Amino acid sequence: MSNKENINKGGISVETEHIFPIIKKWLYSEKEIFLREIVSNASDAVTKLKRLISLGKVKDIEDEFKITVTLNKDEKTLTVSDNGIGMTLDEVKNYICQIALSGALDFIKEYEGEDGSKNGIIGHFGLGFYSSFMVSDTVDVITKSYTGSPAVKWVCNEAGEYEIFENVEKDCRGTDVVMHISDAEAEFLSENKIREILNKYCSFMPVEIYFVNEGDEHKCNHEHNGEECDCEHENEPINDTTPLWQKLPSECEESEYNEFYKKVFSDFREPLFHIHINADYPLNFKGILYFPRINHEYDSLEGQVKLYYNQVFVADNIKEVIPEFMLMLKGVLDCPELPLNVSRSYLQNSAYVSKMSAHIVKKVADKLNGMFTNEREKYESLWDDIKMFIEYGCMRDRKFYDRAKGSLLFALTDGRHVTVDEYLEKAKEKNENTVYYATDKTVQAQYISLFNAQGIEIALLDKVIDTSFMGMLEQDRNIKFVRVDADIEALKGDGEVFENEDLAKLFKEVSKNEKLNVKFEALAEAKTPALLNISEDSRRMEDMMKFYAAHGGMEEMNIPTESTLVLNTESALIKKLCNDTQSEKAKIIAHQVYMLALLAQRQLSADELQEFLCDSFKLLENNID
Ligand code: ADP
Repeated sequence: MSNKENINKGGISVETEHIFPIIKKWLYSEKEIFLREIVSNASDAVTKLKRLISLGKVKDIEDEFKITVTLNKDEKTLTVSDNGIGMTLDEVKNYICQIALSGALDFIKEYEGEDGSKNGIIGHFGLGFYSSFMVSDTVDVITKSYTGSPAVKWVCNEAGEYEIFENVEKDCRGTDVVMHISDAEAEFLSENKIREILNKYCSFMPVEIYFVNEGDEHKCNHEHNGEECDCEHENEPINDTTPLWQKLPSECEESEYNEFYKKVFSDFREPLFHIHINADYPLNFKGILYFPRINHEYDSLEGQVKLYYNQVFVADNIKEVIPEFMLMLKGVLDCPELPLNVSRSYLQNSAYVSKMSAHIVKKVADKLNGMFTNEREKYESLWDDIKMFIEYGCMRDRKFYDRAKGSLLFALTDGRHVTVDEYLEKAKEKNENTVYYATDKTVQAQYISLFNAQGIEIALLDKVIDTSFMGMLEQDRNIKFVRVDADIEALKGDGEVFENEDLAKLFKEVSKNEKLNVKFEALAEAKTPALLNISEDSRRMEDMMKFYAAHGGMEEMNIPTESTLVLNTESALIKKLCNDTQSEKAKIIAHQVYMLALLAQRQLSADELQEFLCDSFKLLENNID
């Protein structure tokens, strides 16, 4: 027997009149979340019942708790069934009918007309269940409470008009939410679509979820060894109810972390390493962050950090929660303290979020420090892959820098790695507070070998990010970065320096560069007759301009870089040239020396190279009998 109640047109429906159109409009861009809302309600219903059992308040329930999502294309329904706590008639009236909580109403009145999809208010205000109306004409709730009271059926149309039927037939305890999918939203009757949504949002929910396709079109994909198929449902739940992050780090194997990473991020490459975060009260969040393998400097640096709320997926890369530079990482964070759906501005201003973010920064820095101290060899081998992340992090977040600075490395041109402090310690002898560096091991090989011969280490800083990173360290540590071709202070020897005006003039003339400075120095090494020095500051400025020009920021300007040709007074060639600065031969040789100095400093342009080759051949030809 069923007892039909009158359609309630009282206070509640006035409020629902406000809410229904807003639900439809506001959540337009994220319609698919209705399924997350309904399945997580089902999961909550099971969790609540389990809690009652564990508290001893309910006995005699032995069940396999589960949620079933059933698609029936023929009937145009999508049903979410659970065998959880269920609802009595009063509970249906209290929890399902009274959706318009005063807070939600005020909020809606205030923001009516705005594009609420960006704010995602659903859930936060207890509208979760009503999101089913984004895709349905009618929604039925058939529910039977664990208390044994008679089952109830609630049917509501998209205008918010509902009817309640008492004493309906329902075999088992729990709730079925039957969504009659509207014609406009027919895509939610596609098996692929539903599976995709379930995978995205429900992969780690704590109650087993089964998917069933009941429609006629459904073809069974299972192996039945030739027997006729009578499959009603799949045997495998679509979710993993105990995701790795919920386990204690001490209970997880290295291989489990790697498998989890590959599965969740569909990346066939192993991550470099991971950080398992298990923050206790009051922060109370868990997660695993992975350092992905980045193959190239220009590989996409966009990571993926998935945010969960009690194992329910909320969103990817929430910038308000995760420090910006951490977004290069991949991983999962489960934060039960954050409401499932909250507005961005809520997150931006939340003290909890900033504490959580600070905790993540600290954990990442601690992991790096730990690896540096305990597994230095491994840490060094990973440096090239992680340095960009670390340098960027240091620049973006002072606290991260302060915590991780002891573990900052320089890769040296000879392949070794030293910390910044180790470098500076060694530099005390010859280049106090100066870090000599190269940006290209091949092009600058000649300079590198001159410095190495003096026992000076050269840091290889060849990434785009290094320029800004150097700038930061210079400010913070009161040190100076000098590229190997920028000065010869450390290359000077004890020999006496002489000056020769005519020779300087000759070199200026053959260089065809009026701005070229020529100076005489006695280098420790006699073999190199001349070296070109480019002022560090003007070169950096030029690099910056080039960078901006290349990235469309401004037009390329021609800033003349200050360059100096250093003539080595220890060199036999320079000494000999001093005796004859006027002849044609002297001119040819000086030109050749200049070109060789240029070649040692940078790649020649096409014209320069051709001229240089031509001259070299001529020189050889003239010197053969
Ligand atoms: P919220 O889940 O945020 O409380 P909802 O609108 O999604 O808000 O649900 C309102 C209430 O309806 C829930 O708090 C719960 O008491 C009840 N409810 C919803 N779905 C179920 C279900 N499957 N089983 C039992 N109770 C449910």
